Amino acid sequence: MNAVWIDEAPAAADATANSLKIERETHKLEKRLCRQVGQAIVDYNMIEEGDKVMVCVSGGKDSYALLDILLKLKARAPIHFDIVAVNLDQKQPGFPEEVLPKYLSDLGVDFHIENQDTYSIVKRVIPEGKTTCGLCSRLRRGILYRVADELGATKVALGHHRDDMLQTFFLNMFFAAKLKSMPPKLVSDDGKHVVIRPLAYVAEKDTVRWAQHREFPIIPCTLCGSQENLQRKQVGEMLREWDRKYPGRIENMFSAMQNVVPSHLLDGTLHDFKGLKATGVADENGDKAFDTPSFDLLSQAPAALRIVQG
Ligand code: SF4
Repeated sequence: MNAVWIDEAPAAADATANSLKIERETHKLEKRLCRQVGQAIVDYNMIEEGDKVMVCVSGGKDSYALLDILLKLKARAPIHFDIVAVNLDQKQPGFPEEVLPKYLSDLGVDFHIENQDTYSIVKRVIPEGKTTCGLCSRLRRGILYRVADELGATKVALGHHRDDMLQTFFLNMFFAAKLKSMPPKLVSDDGKHVVIRPLAYVAEKDTVRWAQHREFPIIPCTLCGSQENLQRKQVGEMLREWDRKYPGRIENMFSAMQNVVPSHLLDGTLHDFKGLKATGVADENGDKAFDTPSFDLLSQAPAALRIVQG
């Protein structure tokens, strides 16, 4: 009898300690997500008093996380804004059309499901074996902007996160020869809409963990039959490998995108190299061309690095 008690007690204590640990970590994750999203909103003035924010929900982990965190922040924000969740049902075969309406109704959020069969258009127009994502995203963008107009939305929120931005940065550098990422806030190409990315400071691994914790009803993104963009996949793997091997590198790279020094790049449209003249005035903070560059980056890191690491 005693043996039973003696054997079971440590196991029960372990289970309690373990569940307390998970609870603490989840609480920390929630605080971090709210802080990072709040900070991005403030840093880029993403949401203003009276805004109606249209949150695009695809059924993937990131857009669920975006909606979830924005709803939490709305409840305690110092300003008033409205949220409307929008899903575009593109009529891909096997799309579980009941999942999002049920989830959004249960959540009690205002929502709209837009039904547009872009799948058939893409299949008809793009020859078999060619990539369909270009046309598909253009069609989706046009539809979502129209829906934003119809709903009176003043901001369109997308679920791209820090790692999407870094991947885009490297893809543009490798394949388009441009130093260009995905902006946290932009005006749409038709000039009519402001698009925001409130997850700009959020690491993908945190949206993965949050989605598991919240048990979001994830809808797979492979229903259209298109292969995930191979180049994006490779760059994503490169970044994950760096993250494993060199902790802090991802955070430094992300901070670098907020800490651009045009006079130390080579773009003559951003810095007047041709007109550069000696001023004759000594400047302690001026360029020291013959010195070995210092890489004490952490001491110079802007707020975002500290936020991301927090
Ligand atoms: S993966 Fe499929 S749904 Fe997504 S953009 Fe490409 S074609 Fe469209």
